[in-house]
Amino acid sequence: MARHKKAELYKRYPAASILIYHGSTVLHFVLGGIGIALGYSFAAWAGTLFGALYLVLALAEMYVLMPLAVCPNCVYYRMSEAVCITGLNVIARKIAKAGDARDFPKRAQGALCPNNLYLASLVIPLIAMLPALAVNFSFLLLALFLVVLGLLLFRFFVIFPKLACLHCHAKFKCPQAGAMGVRNL
Ligand code: SF4
Repeated sequence: MARHKKAELYKRYPAASILIYHGSTVLHFVLGGIGIALGYSFAAWAGTLFGALYLVLALAEMYVLMPLAVCPNCVYYRMSEAVCITGLNVIARKIAKAGDARDFPKRAQGALCPNNLYLASLVIPLIAMLPALAVNFSFLLLALFLVVLGLLLFRFFVIFPKLACLHCHAKFKCPQAGAMGVRNL
């Protein structure tokens, strides 16, 4: 029986993968924020405020909390000249002290753990847009909802399993890679 070749582990992810990751992340957050603002535009300033607040918190979760709280414990932090799928290990080395690799799985422990906050930043715009579609329907809002939903599905069915986690040196410890079922591929 032919043996499957194991997926290559990347010390430095290809620039195209990093671009796809960040392009889809920023697009998700920006369109999500616009969708919230548009969906609740009938509530005067509240829609814009919630949309902007969401955008700021989602960006902060991804680009501030992750390099401060998750990356210092990741194997990519310690690998010289490595660039992970997010490239945030490079930033983390500049702004945070090295953590402990044994603490890496803590990213998924506790109600307000970084993994849950990350997940929340992805689903909040969808949850917020759904009732807005019922009370303030427009085709633009529907399009925003569908695009953000598509970006979420793209992340879970393409980016994580095929571009990111599959090739990650951290996949043997990372809870997310375990959930994606890519550890033995
Ligand atoms: S396995 Fe996936 S989620 Fe975990 S560190 Fe690697 S790329 Fe990130």
